[in-house]
Amino acid sequence: MLSSPLITVAIDGPSASGKSTVARGAARALGFHYVDSGSLYRGLTWKCLRESVNTEDPVAVAELVNRTKLDFFVEEGAIRFTLDGEDPGAQIRSMLVQERVSDVAAVPDVRARVVQHLRDTTRFGNLVMEGRDIGTVVFPDTPHKFYLDADPEERARRRHQEFVKSAADTTVDKVLASLQRRDRKDSTRKTAPLQIALGARIIDSTAMQAKDVVEIVVSQVRDAISKG
Ligand code: C5P
Repeated sequence: MLSSPLITVAIDGPSASGKSTVARGAARALGFHYVDSGSLYRGLTWKCLRESVNTEDPVAVAELVNRTKLDFFVEEGAIRFTLDGEDPGAQIRSMLVQERVSDVAAVPDVRARVVQHLRDTTRFGNLVMEGRDIGTVVFPDTPHKFYLDADPEERARRRHQEFVKSAADTTVDKVLASLQRRDRKDSTRKTAPLQIALGARIIDSTAMQAKDVVEIVVSQVRDAISKG
């Protein structure tokens, strides 16, 4: 019997462009696993902070990442992981991790390890993966590529709402400044900067509801699959 080829859907874009909501929704509708690649970079940043490793020291960061064991599992349709047996949970969403993650993600050794782990998650089956370099580096050959964007002010407003829910004390202006700092670092780093992948469908979600973006992604993927 011929097994059907594995399908990977790549959703890239800047911070708070709606990638997580859309990728989760599309994965659920398609019956694929959801992978949040940023959570790996965030998890490794959390580990650095916990072990008092200076996140601006690429040698120390690479050393810690190389001796950290990651194990992957599926939970409620999403690929999750532990670091040396520990699940960092919501701690990867803290302001401190958010401020430092772009430094850790810019270290070439860290990226090489994470990209390998991300590619290995195809062993779980079909995937919808969100990130910054999924269509350009992790799965450059997938025909299912999307690039989500939204105005910086709208992105800051969305991210601020998430912080309000977690009772974090911040303002939209502070969130906007932090997002722009992170966007700048993510787009200008030497290794795998955030770019629009060749062939990606660009969706500006500023004035759109997440469910409508999900619908665009799902129908395009279904269409492409049905045409073989
Ligand atoms: O998507 P999220 O905001 O959680 O990503 C956190 C950080 O991880 C990004 O700002 C970026 O520095 C890094 N990242 C990356 N490549 C990815 C996903 C995330 O460099 N594919």
